[in-house]
Amino acid sequence: MIRFDRVVKRFGDNVVLDELDFAVRPGERVTLIGPSGSGKTTILRLLMTLERVDGGTIHVGDECLTHVRRGERLVPADEKHLRKVRKRIGMVFQQFNLFPNMRVLRNVTEAPVRVLGLPVAEAQQRARELLEVVGLADKLDAYPTQLSGGQQQRVAIARALAMHPDVLLLDEITSALDPELAAEVLDVLRDLARTSDITMLCVTHAMKFARDVSHRVLMFDQGRILEDKPPQELFERPEHERTRRFLRSVL
Ligand code: ATP
Repeated sequence: MIRFDRVVKRFGDNVVLDELDFAVRPGERVTLIGPSGSGKTTILRLLMTLERVDGGTIHVGDECLTHVRRGERLVPADEKHLRKVRKRIGMVFQQFNLFPNMRVLRNVTEAPVRVLGLPVAEAQQRARELLEVVGLADKLDAYPTQLSGGQQQRVAIARALAMHPDVLLLDEITSALDPELAAEVLDVLRDLARTSDITMLCVTHAMKFARDVSHRVLMFDQGRILEDKPPQELFERPEHERTRRFLRSVL
C-alpha cells in the first residue's frame, strides 16, 4: 500500500532521510517511534505531499506519489497529479486544524462536497455516521471552540475518514491533550482499528496505544530504521542499545 524506495530528504545540509526503504501492506497498522528529529514527521509530510523528496520514489497503492511518466522518462509529479493522489490520504495533526468558522457537521462535509463533488445530503449522512462512530452525534451544530481538545481531535478524525482515504496518517495526535482526553481519542482509534481495515501509519509517544493497535513498530534513529518488529517483540526484547535507551525515556 505504501512503499518508500531509497528516499532521500534534505533540509539544507541536514540529510534527514538517507535512502530510506520501507513498505506497509494494505490494512497494516504501523507505528513510527524514535527520538526527536529522527525524521518521523518528515515521512508523514512526504506522504501528504507537504514536502518533496530529494531522491527516490514513494508509492501509495498503484500510484507513484513523487513522479509521473512523460513518454519514456519519469519526471517529478506536478501539482495536478499531487492533488489526485492527496485525496487518497487522510491526515490528522497534533493541532486539530478544524475550520473555526464552521460547525462540526460542516467541518466533516466540506472536503467531500468540494473536493470529491459528493451531493450535500449524502455527505451529511456519511458525516453523521462518522460523528456517531467518534462519539459526537450530539455535537453536530457546535463550533470547534465550544468543544474540548479531545472532542476537536475526534472531529478531525471523522473529517479525515469522510474522504474515504486508503491510508490514515496520524501525527502525535494526542500530544496536545490532557491524559484523560487523550485516552478518549485513542479509544476511538482502537475501535476503528478493530472494526475497519484501513491502513494506518502513526507517529506517537503513546507506547501502550502503539502496542495495542500496531502490527509493526519501526524504531527510527537519524533517518534510518533501527528495528522493525511486532510491538511485543520490540518492547520486550529491543535489539539495540539505542532502542532500549529511547524506550526507557518514554515508558
Ligand atoms: P519530533 O518527534 O520532534 O517531531 P521527528 O522524528 O518527527 O521529531 P522531523 O520533524 O521529521 O523529526 O525532523 C527531522 C529533522 O528535519 C530535524 O532535524 C528537523 O530539524 C529537520 N526539519 C524538519 N522540517 C524542517 C524544515 N521545514 N526546515 C528545516 N529543517 C527541518
